[in-house]
Amino acid sequence: MYETHEVLNQSPPFEDVDLFALDRPLQDALAANGAAGEAAALSAFGRRYGSAEMLDEARRANENPPRLASFDRKGFRRDTVEFHPAYHRFMGESIAAGVHASTWGSDGERAGAPTEVSRAARFYMANQVEAGHCCPITMTRASVAALAAEPALRERFIGKILSRSYDPSFRPVADKAGMTLGMGMTEKQGGTDVRANTTRAVPTGEGYLLTGHKWFLSAPMCDAFLVLAQAPGGLTCFLMPRFRPDGSVNALRLQRLKDKLGNRSNASAEVEFTEAFAWRVGEEGRGVRTIIEMVQLTRLDCALGSAGLMRMALAQALHHARHRSVFQRHLADQPMMRSVLADLALELEAAVALVMRLARAFDHPDDTTEAARARLLTPAVKYFVCKSAPAFIYEAMECLGGNGYVEEAPLARLYREAPVNAIWEGSGNVMCLDVLRAFSREGEAGRHLVETLAREAVNLPGAAQAAAFIVNAFGAREAEATARRAVERLAQLAATAALTESAPAAAEAFARARLSEPRGATYGTAALDAGDVGTLLERALPT
Ligand SMILES: Cc1cc2nc3c(=O)[nH]c(=O)nc-3n(C[C@H](O)[C@H](O)[C@H](O)COP(=O)(O)OP(=O)(O)OC[C@H]3O[C@@H](n4cnc5c(N)ncnc54)[C@H](O)[C@@H]3O)c2cc1C
Repeated sequence: MYETHEVLNQSPPFEDVDLFALDRPLQDALAANGAAGEAAALSAFGRRYGSAEMLDEARRANENPPRLASFDRKGFRRDTVEFHPAYHRFMGESIAAGVHASTWGSDGERAGAPTEVSRAARFYMANQVEAGHCCPITMTRASVAALAAEPALRERFIGKILSRSYDPSFRPVADKAGMTLGMGMTEKQGGTDVRANTTRAVPTGEGYLLTGHKWFLSAPMCDAFLVLAQAPGGLTCFLMPRFRPDGSVNALRLQRLKDKLGNRSNASAEVEFTEAFAWRVGEEGRGVRTIIEMVQLTRLDCALGSAGLMRMALAQALHHARHRSVFQRHLADQPMMRSVLADLALELEAAVALVMRLARAFDHPDDTTEAARARLLTPAVKYFVCKSAPAFIYEAMECLGGNGYVEEAPLARLYREAPVNAIWEGSGNVMCLDVLRAFSREGEAGRHLVETLAREAVNLPGAAQAAAFIVNAFGAREAEATARRAVERLAQLAATAALTESAPAAAEAFARARLSEPRGATYGTAALDAGDVGTLLERALPT
């Protein structure tokens, strides 16, 4: 009780909710992509992560960032990082739920459909609540794809990777209940251009000794890292454990932790390797080819993660607008606010349909058409969804007015988190260059994919024109200069096609508002009719 006033007209907290049951676009995308049978399990996951307790743990994990412990109190090197218990809590829960590995069988081969789609749904929900811990979760799950190049290593570690027990202790893997993996590619002189890596690898007995550095090494308390270094035969992929095979601490010297815009619960270190031990993964000189198998999966997760951030932002905005009155009317009933919220909901419908359809393509690696879809579309989807997120979240933040801007609402955290998914694992332009390269290397498959998408979106406004534009743009002599426009169109066409399967009404609205007409610079400018607006808002968050 305040002496001067009563607290009125504030929205109740958005907590103790089922993140799955409230998300109709997710449920429909799941059903359309072969994972309807997972609904009950996903609902349990959604209730757990949507609980007030977990939402509060997320706040704590981010308000208490990790700390570097370079030395112990006697001056011996420690090179460890201390995380807040709330971070460990998320790691424990996500690993227990298999988000770090459920797509792999006990032999390290793919577990089969629909594990990609169902895991994608969990990853998307986990990101809504606490995105920082999702970094080691995604790297651990993706590492198995790179380890396939070295079956003996994969066999040696797969049991620990698949384990559902999170073990944060700093000990050799053999003594632990489970393990996590990270990745080190980026050096000071270049991240995109990994061929410029200067870290050297010298063969020795059982493995190699690596000397050099990495400018970014996230989640440095992982038990091992997939690392690139120059071996005698060229750039090569290695697996570098935190402990040498003889049980001694390996020579990873953590220099400092990055002071980051967002992603604060997670640590990203600068590291030096002083003859650090590592095993080779794949042949010497084939480092990029080997690690790209991992990167393709983390790129899918970047898009899923961004969609998750967008989802939480929209849910918060809509929830607030339904409870907050201005001029005697709920915000959610004010025509202009409805336009803004519906435009956001439309964008999210597309993002969710797009990422879940892409996850389905990963569920079918033996189907050549699906495998081509995964190869050709992943960089386009990463580009489009990750770059959409910051502006989207900013608009959702504004729906909460001043409350949106303060740290207690999760909007500020979501907003600070959003740009990283576009930057790491290949920044925006690099994704567009990847799409161009893939389409020029696999011209036939590329044309076939665009034709398929156009067929799936047939009769929807702007679809045929978008397909023609994409084919022309990718074939043009100056394709690089216009690549962003073409890649954006490709992602929007793919989203329209995905929506025809999971949410046909939204497909029509999306095609009209994004493919057929030029998109306005801000949300709320799309030409949506009143019926579209009502449907989109009800699907986004049932009343
Ligand atoms: C929080 C955080 C954590 C990270 N964690 C890790 C990690 O664990 N492991 C790891 O290896 N890396 C990590 N990274 C590094 C990240 O992957 C790189 O920063 C990223 O790949 C970009 O590389 P760069 O910083 O060297 O930028 P650059 O390669 O210098 O690129 C700068 C800009 O130029 C653009 N560009 C590049 N080439 C072209 C071109 N030909 N035409 C047009 N534009 C171009 C890029 O799109 C980018 O926008 C992390 C980064 C961050 C921010």
